[in-house]
Amino acid sequence: MSPRRNHPKKSGRNQPERDLGTSFEAVEEHDEGMYRVRRITGSSSNKPYRCPGCDQLIPTATPHIVAWIHEDIETRRHWHTPCWEKKDRRSPKVQRSRNAPKY
Ligand SMILES: [Zn+2]
Repeated sequence: MSPRRNHPKKSGRNQPERDLGTSFEAVEEHDEGMYRVRRITGSSSNKPYRCPGCDQLIPTATPHIVAWIHEDIETRRHWHTPCWEKKDRRSPKVQRSRNAPKY
């Protein structure tokens, strides 16, 4: 019954929580850097999140995307799946003036 608090992680090296149910995690390259992208089935989400792509709430139990810049869990956001895919189109990868990937 007591609400679980999400304490902001200071080190940035903590693992994201692993108890979100069935999901699939991948790494995608975006302008801001390497994102870890998790596709949430929706069955385990229990509160609405605001999508930064369209500034609308993602209803509970809706399949969506959780993405954060690699090793920077504070950047984690929940996105509608189409908004996440549109984000990539809105900011094409042609301008890469900084943060070159370290291969
Ligand atoms: Zn959206």
